[in-house]
Amino acid sequence: MEVDGEAANWRRVRNMWVHRTSASKTLRSSAARRCIYCNHPVEWYERADNGERLPLLLEQFPVRLLPERYWWSVFNGLVYRGADDDYFRIAHPVVCSAVDHEYDQALEGLRRKYRVDTAT
Ligand SMILES: [Zn+2]
Repeated sequence: MEVDGEAANWRRVRNMWVHRTSASKTLRSSAARRCIYCNHPVEWYERADNGERLPLLLEQFPVRLLPERYWWSVFNGLVYRGADDDYFRIAHPVVCSAVDHEYDQALEGLRRKYRVDTAT
C-alpha cells in the first residue's frame, strides 16, 4: 500500500563493490574529480610502485606523441610507468594550467590546449 509522500522518505542508494581481484580499493566513481587548481577533469589512481595517488588526464594518447618519461598506464586499478598497447595516459600536473612549468617543447601543444580548455 502506497502512502502519499512515502517516496520522499526514500533515498536513492547506489550499490558499488570493488572486485575482489582488483589491486586498488578505490571506487572509480569517487576517483573522478576536477583539479582544484585549474578545474580540469582528472581521475585519481594509486601508483603501483609506491601507493601514492596520482591524478591522470582522462584521455589516452598514442606513444608517438610524447617521450617515454611521460607515459603512464592503468592496469587492474593501479597506475604504472609505461604505455599500454601503444597508448598512454598523462599525469595531470605536467599539463596543469595553474602550474608554472619549465619549458618543454614536447608538452607545449598540450599545455596550450589545456590552458584554453580551462580558461572559462
Ligand atoms: Zn590542474
